[in-house]
Amino acid sequence: MAGAAIALARPGSRSYLPRMSLRPVCCSPLSRTLVAAGGLASFALGAQESHPEVSFRAPLIALVHARLVDSSSPAAREDQTLLIRDGKIAALGPFGKVSVPQDARTVDLTGKTVIPGLVMVHEHLFYAVSAGAGSFHTNEMDYSFPRLYLACGLTSIRTGGSIEPYADMEIKRRIDAGEMPGPKMHLTAPYIEGSPTPFAQLHAVGGPEDAVKLVNYWADQGFTSFKLYVHLRRDVAAAAIAAAHQRGLQVTGHIGVMTYREAAELGIDNLEHGFFASTDFVRGKKENELPVPAVAQASLDELKVDSPEANELIQLLVSRHVALTSTLTVIEGFVAGRPILAARVLESMSEPAREKYLTFWARANEHNASMVPRFRKLMALEKKFFDAGGLLVAGTDPTGWGNAVAGHGSLREVELLAEAGLTPAQAIQVATTNGAKLLGIDREVGSLEAGKAADLVVLAGNPLQSIGDIRKVETVFKDGVGYDSGRLLDSVRGCVGIN
Ligand SMILES: [Zn+2]
Repeated sequence: MAGAAIALARPGSRSYLPRMSLRPVCCSPLSRTLVAAGGLASFALGAQESHPEVSFRAPLIALVHARLVDSSSPAAREDQTLLIRDGKIAALGPFGKVSVPQDARTVDLTGKTVIPGLVMVHEHLFYAVSAGAGSFHTNEMDYSFPRLYLACGLTSIRTGGSIEPYADMEIKRRIDAGEMPGPKMHLTAPYIEGSPTPFAQLHAVGGPEDAVKLVNYWADQGFTSFKLYVHLRRDVAAAAIAAAHQRGLQVTGHIGVMTYREAAELGIDNLEHGFFASTDFVRGKKENELPVPAVAQASLDELKVDSPEANELIQLLVSRHVALTSTLTVIEGFVAGRPILAARVLESMSEPAREKYLTFWARANEHNASMVPRFRKLMALEKKFFDAGGLLVAGTDPTGWGNAVAGHGSLREVELLAEAGLTPAQAIQVATTNGAKLLGIDREVGSLEAGKAADLVVLAGNPLQSIGDIRKVETVFKDGVGYDSGRLLDSVRGCVGIN
C-alpha cells in the first residue's frame, strides 16, 4: 500500500526513541559470515536438522494434553493428543483415545494451545527503507523475513507482489531444499502496474500485449499469482486477467484507476487492503482515471456501512467469488492513538529502520486523527463482507513505514480482525483456513485434521479467551519439524531494514 503511505510520509524528529539495549546481529560483517558459514556447513552435511533453530525433529512426535483450536471444530478441543508421523498429522483425539507408540517423542502441552500454521496472503520479502519527498526504495529481506514469518507461526505465505523476483525465487528454492528456515511460499510476480508509476522499482507495462507477455514470462518462471497495481487501466487489466486465467493462475489487485466493481466484472480473484483502495464510491469518477487520494478517502468517509451502495458492492464481490484481503495491520500505522510496537518487534529492526518507524508513529499520532473513524469503518466493512459469506483472507503487507514487520505484523493482523468484531475463532479461521482455501491448498493445510501436513503453532495460552495470546508463539511445526520461535527471533535482531 505504498501509494497511500507516500502521501503521509514526513521527515521527523527522533524524540520518541526508547532507551533499549540492542544486540544487532545483522550489522556485524563477522556475524554475517558466521551465519553464512553455518548455512554452508549444514548444507554440506546434507541435513536440515543442523539448523540451530530446530527444536523437534523425529519420525514420530506425540503432542499430549493440548488444547486444539481450528475451524474444523466449533469449540476448542481440550486435553487432546496429536500424533505427527513423517511430517503429517497421523491421528488426533482425546487423551487416552489415541494410542501413542513407545518410540514417539512425547511433548506435554498442558495449558497450551495448538492452532494450524497461519496461511497469510499479502506478504512481501521486501521492506521500505526510504520514503517521502519523491523517493521510495525497498531492500530485499532475504535473511530476516523468512525467519520472522516462520517464528511467528506462518507456515504458508503468498507474496503479494515482487520487487526482486529472482531473489524471491531463490529464497523459495532454498527454503524448499531445507537450506534455510522459512514458510512455504506461493509467489506473486512483479507488479503489473500502469503508467506513470511513482515507484522507480516498478515496471509500467506498455499495453495489453505487454501485459500478456509479462504474465506468460513470469508464469514460465514458476510464479503462480499476479498482482494488478494502482495505475493499471481497465483494458490492460482485462488482458492480464485473461492471460493468467488461461494458465490456471490467480490475479489479485491493489487497484485505484479501476474500481472494485470493474475488476470483479473482469473476473479478478482477489482484492487487497479491504475496502481501503476502493474508488467505487467517488462521485463522478471517470473510467481509467485515478481520483486524488484525498477525494477517494473522503468518499469512504461519507459512505455508510449499511447503505445500499456498500451492500451492492459486497453482494457483487460475494456472488463473483472475489476474495478480500484484510491488511488492517499495515493501515493501523497511519492511524492516531494506536499502540506502539512491542520491544521485541523494535529489536528486530536496524537502527535507521527503528528511528524511521518511531518518527512515523509519532507523526501519525500528531496528525492523523481523521484516520480514526476511517479505520473503524474499514473494520466494519470487512466484518460485513465476512458476515455476508465473502472469503475474507488476511495479510500483513510488511511495507509501510515499518509499522507492519513480517511475522509480528501478521500476528497483529489476527488481533485486529478480532478488534473488528470477528470472534477469536473466526479471526484465526481467516488467517488459516481461509488463506488455504484461496490458495487452493486447503486439502493439505489450514486445519488440524488427520492426513494434513503437520503445520502447527504451539501457543503458551488460550487465544479464544484472549486473542493477544496469539503472540505467545513457542514452537512452530512445518511438515512436522518443530522450530523454536525465540531462537528464530534472536537470529534476526537488528536485521529488518538491512537484509
Ligand atoms: Zn503490498
